[in-house]
Amino acid sequence: METLARVAVMYSRPDEADSVAGAHLVTLSGAGAAGAALAEVPAGTHLKVLADLCGHGTATAVVLGGMFGGLYGEGWTDLPLDHDGLKEAGGALGCGALHFLHPEDCPVGVAAEATAYLAAQSARQCGVCVSGTGALAATLTAAAHGEAGHDSVDKLRRWSQQLPGRGACGLLDAAARIVGSLLAHFPDRIDAHRRSDCPACAGAAPEDGRRFTVPVP
Ligand code: SF4
Repeated sequence: METLARVAVMYSRPDEADSVAGAHLVTLSGAGAAGAALAEVPAGTHLKVLADLCGHGTATAVVLGGMFGGLYGEGWTDLPLDHDGLKEAGGALGCGALHFLHPEDCPVGVAAEATAYLAAQSARQCGVCVSGTGALAATLTAAAHGEAGHDSVDKLRRWSQQLPGRGACGLLDAAARIVGSLLAHFPDRIDAHRRSDCPACAGAAPEDGRRFTVPVP
């Protein structure tokens, strides 16, 4: 859609081709009253500015690129909306969908839902994708319920490093990136679930209301 939109604008306004090339179409969503929004914004805009503009000023984290760009906590506000800047931070803009998490959104629950969705969407053509996404989702779901084994974090970290690049498409990479970024940005949260003192949900299961859905504007 972004490509077609850019072609149309560049054709109709050739003098502004540079400014069109320096902008991104993004979908902005998150929990709360603010609905999803579709916006064209200058490349390099800080994500905090976008969150404030669309009513998510209290957001504490963001999921980038639909589910393909990872989950970012501390420091996400200074991330720039451009491919190079996000890549440098280990993320990706992907399809341009940004989903903001609020203090009541549990990052473990969100990551569990995202990996479960990706596991369910696997085309089941690559064995490593079927087993890899399934293992990531099952382990994170157990973690969200406070039932993670003591070696779960080590297993998740190892899988998040070993699985990227081993599927025929980017779906397995997306699941691994969600897990790797969860561990990097929320390193204590899985243990917090085991102790039932997660600050967001005190060990509640993801189906208890903190759904991760990206509405279409
Ligand atoms: S990696 Fe891609 S192509 Fe391979 S099974 Fe998973 S979804 Fe299908």
